[in-house]
Amino acid sequence: MIVVMKKEASEGMVAAIRKVAVESDKKIEDTRVVEGDKQSTVHLMGTGFDKDYLENRLSNLEGVDKIIHISSKYKIASRDFGESKMEVKRGETSVLFNGNTVMAAGPCAIESEDQIMRSAEALASQGVKILRGGAFKPRSSPYDFQGLGEKGLKIARKAADEFGMLFVTEAMSTEHVSMVSEYADIIQIGTRNMQNFFLLMAAGETNKPVMLKRGLSATTDELLLAADYILCKQDKPQVILCLRGIRTFESDTRNTLDIGAILALREKTWLPVFFDPSHAAGKRDQVESLSQMALVAGYNGIMVETHPYPGEALCDGKQSLTLDEFKQMYQGLSYLSRRIGANFS
Ligand code: PEP
Ligand code: MN
Repeated sequence: MIVVMKKEASEGMVAAIRKVAVESDKKIEDTRVVEGDKQSTVHLMGTGFDKDYLENRLSNLEGVDKIIHISSKYKIASRDFGESKMEVKRGETSVLFNGNTVMAAGPCAIESEDQIMRSAEALASQGVKILRGGAFKPRSSPYDFQGLGEKGLKIARKAADEFGMLFVTEAMSTEHVSMVSEYADIIQIGTRNMQNFFLLMAAGETNKPVMLKRGLSATTDELLLAADYILCKQDKPQVILCLRGIRTFESDTRNTLDIGAILALREKTWLPVFFDPSHAAGKRDQVESLSQMALVAGYNGIMVETHPYPGEALCDGKQSLTLDEFKQMYQGLSYLSRRIGANFS
């Protein structure tokens, strides 16, 4: 149950709601306040509490705008929750995630200062505002390159700052969340960790925006429930979903891209949805066409892998675009966006 407060409601009024709720029904186990960009909401959590009785008790208290019941299992991620503006800022750079299609690009893994600097320079010169790159890499084989760790985070932060970009990077375990959040503007939760609930909650507790990738065999409902694990720990809801293909019997591509999932998600959630064609295709020659499809389908963002020299990449070289290929693709997408009236950057 969610109590939506009036815009002008004071902190005292919010506190009174929490107090009355807990005192009225012992089955309320927890309450949380989420600061929306327009108004705050108080979330009452627990099982088996008497909704009608509570609604009666709370609806006339000072500062209450309305009370909503969300029937889906996920709550804050639900479309019924309403929309909250999601804008990520750092210095002069700001990126709005709802409504637009925004580009994030960079290498799969941060490998060296030279590699990340060259990447950031080339991408920023095109107008890309979000630099991606992993310092902790979830590799199928324990013998493959695992990432540079904090050293990687440092050099990528430096590159992002030098070229006025936001930086998105993966946290693989709870023990690294606070370190990653020191350097990143957006914490990425990888596909393999979509249901690592302790990690989701730890990422939410940092109050940094989180990009949550869909698990290899996760349904969209499971994705939204995972998002709620993060959202219910954040003061302000800031989760971006990312689709990147799921595992099926098909072997033509690395993963099967459920491109139409955006249609289902649009009905279920207000959260921005990104699209990652690189991990879906596994091949660089499909990345441009898939990105065009994502733009036309109305995804809120596209995240692609690039590398100054993909042949030498320590991770995912086959699906990484060269910086020249990226430039061509980006200009093509800008042209396409003007033709279809999309807001792309
Ligand atoms: C990534 O984007 O760096 C990555 C590892 O992707 P995924 O978790 O989707 O496999
Ligand atoms: Mn990769």
